[in-house]
Amino acid sequence: MLIGEQLYEGKAKVIYKTDDPNNLLAQYKDDATAYNAQKRGTIAGKGRMNCSIATHLFQKLEASGINTHFIDQPSEDQMRIKAVSIIPLEVVVRNIAAGSLCQQTGLELGTVLQQPLVDFYYKDDALGDPFLSRDRILMMDIATPEQIDALAESALRINRILIDFFLKCEITLVDFKLEFGLDHTGQMILADEVSPDTCRLWNQAEPDPNRRVMDKDRFRRDLGDVESAYAQVMERVLAQPVQ
Ligand code: 5GP
Repeated sequence: MLIGEQLYEGKAKVIYKTDDPNNLLAQYKDDATAYNAQKRGTIAGKGRMNCSIATHLFQKLEASGINTHFIDQPSEDQMRIKAVSIIPLEVVVRNIAAGSLCQQTGLELGTVLQQPLVDFYYKDDALGDPFLSRDRILMMDIATPEQIDALAESALRINRILIDFFLKCEITLVDFKLEFGLDHTGQMILADEVSPDTCRLWNQAEPDPNRRVMDKDRFRRDLGDVESAYAQVMERVLAQPVQ
């Protein structure tokens, strides 16, 4: 595979063209941002850790019947992916109240939701990724009613697979963000990444509300030991079979 020109640089990855127009290369970075890039920093080794965690989780999801953009992992911090046109929605699934759900509803941190909640946000940094209702998504022509249903259904399927997977890692999947895209055939597939940058993950053996945090909240909230938390997630995830 020849690496071609840079197509796009995001907050956590640089995307390059390859010699195959249907495939791209994602170079995972150590850069970390939070609060719509108002907070910036680096997490040493994050690029290779997130790339390896996301690779393993994409392989698990593929083995469970979910179509993803993952092709292979040519090096520790590089992932070959299918080219997609990204649907500009962040699809968030929540199992336990945390983050913006607590801020916006007053629910207490850690409240177990009776059923998983699927929330949509507009992927637009200039607007601060605002919450969108179904009617607003339709009004803005971002997705069709069928696509919105397919996004929610797929997100909930992925949630069931990941809850079980993380349970085996003795980690609670609190919530996570997904992005989907349309490939060259028009099929909707899972894109972006699934990693401690995009999931809230709590160590089941640790009751303390700060010490249990194994994800990007350690960086967002200056809890320290960010690298070792990511390394611990990687160790536990890679120890589980994908089949
Ligand atoms: P919240 O809405 O509480 O901020 O985030 C809910 C979940 O989605 C968390 O797991 C969080 O990491 C993830 N999430 C939401 N928006 C973003 C985003 O713009 N970037 C990343 N990396 N994760 C996000």
